[in-house]
Amino acid sequence: MNKYEALKKYFGYDTFREGQEKLIDAILEGRDALGIMPTGAGKSLCYQIPALLLSGMTLVISPLISLMKDQVQSLNQAGIHAAYINSSLTENQITKALKLAAEGRYKIIYVAPERLETYEFLDFAAQAEISMLSVDEAHCISQWGQDFRPSYLKIVDFLMRLKTRPIVSAFTATATENVREDIACVLGLNEPEILVTGFDRKNLSFAVETPKNKAGFVLNYLREHGEESGIIYCSTRKNVEQMYEKIIALGVLATKYHAGLSNEERRQNQEDFVYDKKPVMVATNAFGMGIDKSNVRYVIHYNMPQNLENYYQEAGRAGRDGEASECILLYSVQDLMIARFLLEGKEENPQLNGETLQAIRERDEERLRRMNDYCQTTSCLRRYILNYFGEHGKERCENCSNCRKEFIIVDRSEEAKKVISCVREFKGRFGINVIAGTLAGADRAKLREYKVSSYSSFGALKNLGEPKTKRLIHQMLMDGFLVATSDKYALLKLTDKADELLRDNQKMLLKETKDEPQYADGNRPSAAKRKSDILNTRGLEFFERLRILRAKLAKEEGMPPYIIFSDKTLVDMCIRLPFTREEMLMVSGVGERKYEKYGARFLEEIRQYTGGKREKLYFGSIEEMQRLRGKF
Ligand code: ADP
Repeated sequence: MNKYEALKKYFGYDTFREGQEKLIDAILEGRDALGIMPTGAGKSLCYQIPALLLSGMTLVISPLISLMKDQVQSLNQAGIHAAYINSSLTENQITKALKLAAEGRYKIIYVAPERLETYEFLDFAAQAEISMLSVDEAHCISQWGQDFRPSYLKIVDFLMRLKTRPIVSAFTATATENVREDIACVLGLNEPEILVTGFDRKNLSFAVETPKNKAGFVLNYLREHGEESGIIYCSTRKNVEQMYEKIIALGVLATKYHAGLSNEERRQNQEDFVYDKKPVMVATNAFGMGIDKSNVRYVIHYNMPQNLENYYQEAGRAGRDGEASECILLYSVQDLMIARFLLEGKEENPQLNGETLQAIRERDEERLRRMNDYCQTTSCLRRYILNYFGEHGKERCENCSNCRKEFIIVDRSEEAKKVISCVREFKGRFGINVIAGTLAGADRAKLREYKVSSYSSFGALKNLGEPKTKRLIHQMLMDGFLVATSDKYALLKLTDKADELLRDNQKMLLKETKDEPQYADGNRPSAAKRKSDILNTRGLEFFERLRILRAKLAKEEGMPPYIIFSDKTLVDMCIRLPFTREEMLMVSGVGERKYEKYGARFLEEIRQYTGGKREKLYFGSIEEMQRLRGKF
């Protein structure tokens, strides 16, 4: 069997995705490999295919018990013998699994790093033919990263204890140079093939919205998408509870997750979500680590996260199956304050000295500022994210809320002069909130405390309003008319360039949306090419039938529906409408083993629905469909 045959037979795919083949080839030549690819890019396949083709077994080190179970279930479903060994098993079960492993029953064994130093495991490893050791979430080995796990260092000792060094491959979605170097160095990779694919997740569309009523926005969105799976992230438990109640009242099946719930409640709620019993999850950022659910169609952030690293990771839980999905951030003026408040309350590592702590605080503050800029920018959001992670995106992606909005250029020089006189009047003692609030003539406790109404700038930009004034100030910062101090207060000061503006030697041009806010409380045009753009009414109806069948099979087997078939596979089934085994095997994601297990049930469903007559359940041509949905 070669790699293409393995891809088709076990996974049901026809072509490799970007980067996969290069890593697989290197491994099959006996070289070490390091793959740096974003979530959903298909890292697992890069070690699973070689594992099938190499003579011995592959050990996969993975930090999360829940992920291991998921992966092993998926592999078994695909007809690949795999097992996991971690603390969720009893000692007896571990002994039994190791015995079977020693007999060569498994091609792939997932192991928690802690296991590697146990006597029993070392004993097993000394006898076994281990062709490859793969390190998943390899950034956990780096002390630079946010997720450093000391237990990952045990991998190095383990490798040294083996009589023959296996091929070592490592995978992560963390991009930074430091982390990358650390992985290669600490793991002692031997002239590895290093592959870094772009960080762009093309199937995700990004949006920042500033609705007056955020809860109203979410409820409206759910009225349209309530049956789809999605996550709503809120920054506090209180917000989670409130939002959850409102969603339930709407009649949408939702569940919740935060640190205030008992372990049992969290486990149950997570399971309800993963098994699609309750497709909507309302949660704090405590939720998500180790969730491999592939059919999450949208992630809404009710509040702005503290930095873009967190945002991209959380939003990136959408669309792991490659289907179009939406990432929407709901922004309001208070978000910056909430985020700052949470940052200030962050626990600090008592082992670090004052200088380091200060450096960390400044770094956090800078990251927060960049996050806030993301919410304010009028340029392409995807480009902003990619630039942040050190990549260059196209000028416009045409698939984010900014690229979709129509902007006009407005001369705001006169308004900018008012901002300058306000900064001057305050003698650089205040930041953007007080200045914008003063200019807009806002009435807030804090502003009253500073007695801002006694200044001549008070209310000078009342007509423009506070959000637009803020946007103007942000643009003035970016254009260098103002600077902000680099401490957490970010006090605004004037630059020499400000004088140029006052003397009319410079103009302040601002990009504004034509008629904002166009859809403040929902009813926004949907960004992503969803299945509703692809399938016609009968197609959508049929998709529902297939989904119900999938749920039924999942229940019978006690596993999450997406492990049986992904949403992408079901959509492809609606498009291709297979009548025979051969046709069914053409569907993306239907491999031989899955065909044997489920093919007949799905073919029967198709026969019943169509009465055995060919029909077209999608708009346009099949080529168009494939182009729309990206390559399978
Ligand atoms: P990662 O670990 O990089 O986040 P996964 O390995 O979980 O990503 O893969 C994400 C999804 O993409 C899975 O549903 C997987 O089956 C699918 N996938 C991987 N490789 C291919 C491919 N060559 N063609 C089609 N789908 C693929």
